[in-house]
Amino acid sequence: MRVKCVICDKIEAIEDESLVAKRLRNRPIHTYMCNDCSTRITEKTNNRAETGNFRLYRPKSEQDEW
Ligand SMILES: [Zn+2]
Repeated sequence: MRVKCVICDKIEAIEDESLVAKRLRNRPIHTYMCNDCSTRITEKTNNRAETGNFRLYRPKSEQDEW
């Protein structure tokens, strides 16, 4: 299947049977990120986590008790 990277608009072909393809079938197509972008974002996230200025996203289940 063909997918478009949400960050850089690059179109890539991925294997229909790959894990990514299976995940995309259950989620909107716009969640796809190419390898370049996902690597870049992972690095950014790790860097920010190390500086302590970045809070990891937490599920909001704590607020949903009522
Ligand atoms: Zn990209």
